[in-house]
Formats: sequence, structure tokens, C-alpha cells
Amino acid sequence: MIATGLFGAGCGGCAVFGLSLGKVRGRLTNAFAGFIIGFASLYLAWVWYLFLAARDSFGQGLFFFDTSAMFSFMQLIAANGMWEIGGATPTGGALYTIWVIEAFIVLIPAILIAFSADTPFCEPCNQWSEESACSVTFRAPEDLDQFRQSLEDENYSPLFDNALLSPEDVCLHAKIHRCPKCDGSTWLEVEQVRTWLDDKGEAQSSKDTVMKHLAISRQYAEALLALLPDPSGVISEESPATQNDLVEEGFQDEELG
Ligand SMILES: [Zn+2]
Repeated sequence: MIATGLFGAGCGGCAVFGLSLGKVRGRLTNAFAGFIIGFASLYLAWVWYLFLAARDSFGQGLFFFDTSAMFSFMQLIAANGMWEIGGATPTGGALYTIWVIEAFIVLIPAILIAFSADTPFCEPCNQWSEESACSVTFRAPEDLDQFRQSLEDENYSPLFDNALLSPEDVCLHAKIHRCPKCDGSTWLEVEQVRTWLDDKGEAQSSKDTVMKHLAISRQYAEALLALLPDPSGVISEESPATQNDLVEEGFQDEELG
């Protein structure tokens, strides 16, 4: 069952690869592509399975591509059973149920993975953005709604003023998505990451999206990426902390080329 799920996930991965090459960015189109790839893969898996089943039964492999011939052969397998589990050979309704469940285990991950592909896209450049993670983490705010509102109001101090030297049990991770061709298209993504030790003493973590693809100016994005945890115990900032200084520095950088 796990391998079947991985097969479905692989189908989703192939769909995402194709959608990315084709620069497709409609969530429903993505989901539909995931379904088509999953369905085609399931069909071909059945062609191969029936080839192997025929070879085992009649000593000669046959490829059935015609669905009516496939269904006839499947009915034959369902009537007699093909394999055992725990000493029982599933046949008839039980086997059909297993096949239907199997189909869902392939199709659902394929559709969900394709649907969840949402890399930001720079329309003027016709280009996907590239992702970079900030080197530092940020102290989790008490009020997430206020935090979001602040970022939406282009006040990034809740991030700049709360950079951490080392990750805490609950902290924010930030990612920047940048268009590689222009300085315009830039997005900020913030996740709240919770880490804890489970009963066995193994580290576990969970993520919640706090801010998804908020358009921000490139200067602030670069400044966030420039924050580094300094071994001397001080957070180093290549750009000044205050936003006014930041803007001035940004312009100077532009002048210097
Ligand atoms: Zn661009």
C-alpha cells in the first residue's frame, strides 16, 4: 500500500514537472493534469500487471491495451483470485474493492501534489520565481493576526526586530521567492515551525503557514536574506535595521550598480 501511494506521489511529481515546463499555473488545471497522469499511469500499470498475470497463467505474456479485453481478463482474475493474503484468496467483490481502493491510493496523491504546486510566477518575465530561505529564524509573535496585518501594511519590523540567533521551539521561518530576471517580482512566505521531542526522544516538527506569497519590495527581501546569525552572539545585518536607512541604502546600491 505504501509503494502504491509512492507510485501515486511519483505521478503527482511528474505532473508538477510537466506543468512547470509548460508554465501552467491554474490550480484546477494542475489538479486535472495530476488526475490525467495518475489515470494514465494506473492504466499502464494494469496493462503491465495483466501481461505478467497472463504469462504466469498461460506461460505467454500478452499486452492488452484495449479496455474491453482488459476488463474481461480482470473479471477472470476476480472470479478465480490471483494471490493470497493471510491464507485467503480475495475474489469477486473483495478483490474489486481492493482494486478500487488501490486506484484511489494512486489518484489522490497524484491530484493533491499537482494541485498544491503554487510557486509564484513573474508574469512580465514569463518566468517562475526562485526560492531562498532566510538564514535566521524569527521569534514567533503573540498575535499572528496583528503580525500578518503589519506585514500587509509593509511594516516588516516584526521580522527585523525579532531575528533569532538559534531556532526556538516555536519560531518563524521565512522564505523569499524572487524572479531571476527582474528586480520587481518578489514574494515573502512565512511559516510557524513547532519542534518538540516525542515519547521516544525523537525530534518532531509541524509547520503552519502564517503568510503565503505576500508581494514585497526587493530591498526588504534582500535585507531579510542578508540577516546572518553571527557566532560572536550578535545578529549581523548587512543592511541597517531601520526601514528608512534600508530604503536609502537600497537606492545607494542601485546608484553604485
Ligand atoms: Zn520578473
